[in-house]
Amino acid sequence: MTRMNTTDSSGDVRLVGIGKTYGSFTAVHPLDLTVPQGSFFALLGASGCGKTTTLRMIAGLEEPTSGSVHLGEQEVTRLPPYKRPVNTVFQSYALFPHLDIFENVAFGLRRRGIRSVKKQVEEMLDLVQLGEQARKKPHQLSGGQQQRVAVARALINHPKVLLLDEPLGALDLKLRRQMQLELKRIQTEVGITFIHVTHDQEEAMTMADTVAVMDAGRVEQLGPPTELYENPRTTFVANFLGTSNLIEAEVDTRGGGDIVLDAGGGKLVLPEARCSASARTGDKVLVGIRPEKISLTHVDDAGEIPEGRNRVTGTIADASFIGVSTQYVVDSAVCPEFAVYVQNVERDGRLVPGADVVLHWSPAHTFGLDAAQSLL
Ligand code: ATP
Repeated sequence: MTRMNTTDSSGDVRLVGIGKTYGSFTAVHPLDLTVPQGSFFALLGASGCGKTTTLRMIAGLEEPTSGSVHLGEQEVTRLPPYKRPVNTVFQSYALFPHLDIFENVAFGLRRRGIRSVKKQVEEMLDLVQLGEQARKKPHQLSGGQQQRVAVARALINHPKVLLLDEPLGALDLKLRRQMQLELKRIQTEVGITFIHVTHDQEEAMTMADTVAVMDAGRVEQLGPPTELYENPRTTFVANFLGTSNLIEAEVDTRGGGDIVLDAGGGKLVLPEARCSASARTGDKVLVGIRPEKISLTHVDDAGEIPEGRNRVTGTIADASFIGVSTQYVVDSAVCPEFAVYVQNVERDGRLVPGADVVLHWSPAHTFGLDAAQSLL
């Protein structure tokens, strides 16, 4: 399969005000979303958040209650699924058990009346690294191999967009990890748009170049994985993607690009650019910091902490050694269960439960959220 030209926009997916209600229940609130040609895009969210419904509206398997769906220059809102240049891979591979792997992949070509299928099918089986398995039946393959057959079968008709609905959901963890890298490689090789639905944050972050985090039928935040992780804009995103420590603080002053906040007596500095709340003087803001961005120093060595770092005092409540790192829970007046992950190469033997410590971190790693949002 030849890689698509990167200036080609025929694989752009544009959703304009697309929404879905079932009776009085809104599964997807009107949503605007653009997925550029050639990107690996993930719709991420907990069960029931509306991600599958969104995917099915792109596929044409679900009729939207409002809005329109555009693929490239073409509006496809009212086109049946088989007339859209998209194909879908489901969690249940839905392979034909009585056909061998070659014939499963050839199926879409034969249905279109194409007779000489050998070259295309072989190319496709090579792409998914199943060239050797062509004459086996589906039940003779592993779950991961069967899923790759399903991908090959979906790609054989050269769709502009491949939709993947929890395709790795039935696989065990190790195989899932392998298949994540495998799907990423296939997407890079064919260069078409992949839209992947998953509830697994690690999966979305590993594979996708852009992730849309959904909650209760709305996109909460959309962006590259690193941006979502490092600069979440809502408490939902901050807690859904990894662990966040959130401290409620009051805005004291602003100036020079920084916001200075009062957190129970101590001051914390937050760069303005990393704050999604309005943050006027006197406003309450949630100050967030990821566990692995924090250093832990025994209180006896507090004088050695460099100037300019945010600091909070506390007492170690729990320490779990997990090989490469130790995960601490620190009791602090500003956050009752502060999570701190420290690489074991830096481990200090005095950092045991009961020890008084100073937690400190660079303001550059701090993020600020609207305190009016409820904490999860
Ligand atoms: P999951 O990961 O469990 O599939 P999801 O995020 O993909 O969840 P959707 O399948 O999109 O969620 O469903 C969104 C909401 O719409 C859910 O509350 C679901 O119960 C509801 N829903 C979906 N299909 C229908 C239907 N045909 N009739 C009524 N409600 C529906």
